[in-house]
Amino acid sequence: MNDIRLLNPTHLLHHAIGQPLIKGIRKLVSNNLCPLCGLPTIDAVDWKISKKFSDLDSFAEKENIKFLCPACYYSLLHIRELHKAYILTYTEGLKVLQFDDQPSKKIGIGQKKVVSRYYLRDFLLKPPVDDPWIMMLQTKMNPQHSIMKAKVNFGYADTLWVCNGGKNYAIPKKGLEELFNALEKVKKSDLLYPYLFNDNRPWKGHKEIKLWEDVEPIIAKHKYKHYLSFIYDRIIPPKKYMLKDTNN
Ligand SMILES: [Zn+2]
Repeated sequence: MNDIRLLNPTHLLHHAIGQPLIKGIRKLVSNNLCPLCGLPTIDAVDWKISKKFSDLDSFAEKENIKFLCPACYYSLLHIRELHKAYILTYTEGLKVLQFDDQPSKKIGIGQKKVVSRYYLRDFLLKPPVDDPWIMMLQTKMNPQHSIMKAKVNFGYADTLWVCNGGKNYAIPKKGLEELFNALEKVKKSDLLYPYLFNDNRPWKGHKEIKLWEDVEPIIAKHKYKHYLSFIYDRIIPPKKYMLKDTNN
C-alpha cells in the first residue's frame, strides 16, 4: 500500500472496486477538502444534502456542502448495496459474505464469497497485515451510512476494528483465540449464557459447573467489555450450526 488515503473507508472501497467511472466528475480549480472524508481532492462531483438526509454527523464539514470527492460520492450512491456483511481489502476487493447455511443472496457491487460460519473468527485470528481491510457486519433493518463510519485496519496492531452497521467494536488481539474457544463452549452449553454477563456463578450442583470452571478464568478477563456480547452474538457461529458441525 503506498497511498495513505486507503486508510479512509470510502477511498478504500473506491480503489478496491477498481475506481469505476462516475458520471459528472469535474476538476476543481485547486485541491479542496472533501466535506465528507476531509481529504484533499481535485476531482469533484456536485452534490447537495437532500431534505431527507439525517446523518450529517458523518461529515467532516457540516455546512455549505456543494461537492463530494469521487470516493465518497460512489460510497453514498451505493449505501443500499453496501448494507450487507462483507470483507473489504485493497488487494481482493469487496467480498460480500454469504454463509453456507443461508439461501443465495443477490448482490449489487463486489463479488459474493460463500463461507462457513467459522469464517469471521478464522479471519480475525489471522487478519491481513500489509493489506488494509474492513470487516463489516450488519444488524439493522435499514441501510446505514456504515462504510463512512467504518475503521480501516492496517499493519500490526493490538486492536482489531470490526464494524457493525455504523458502530465500531475494538477487539483486543491478545488472547482472542482462547476467548473464541471459551465463548463457543458457552454457546454450545445449555444454561451458561447468563453467567457471561453478571457476577453470579452457577451453584456447585449446577449440571454444567465443570464446563463453567473451565472457561471462567478466560471470561473473567473480558467481563463487562463492550465487545463481549458482540463477539458472542455475531462472531461465534450460531449454536445450532456448531452442534450440527460436531455431529458430522
Ligand atoms: Zn471524500
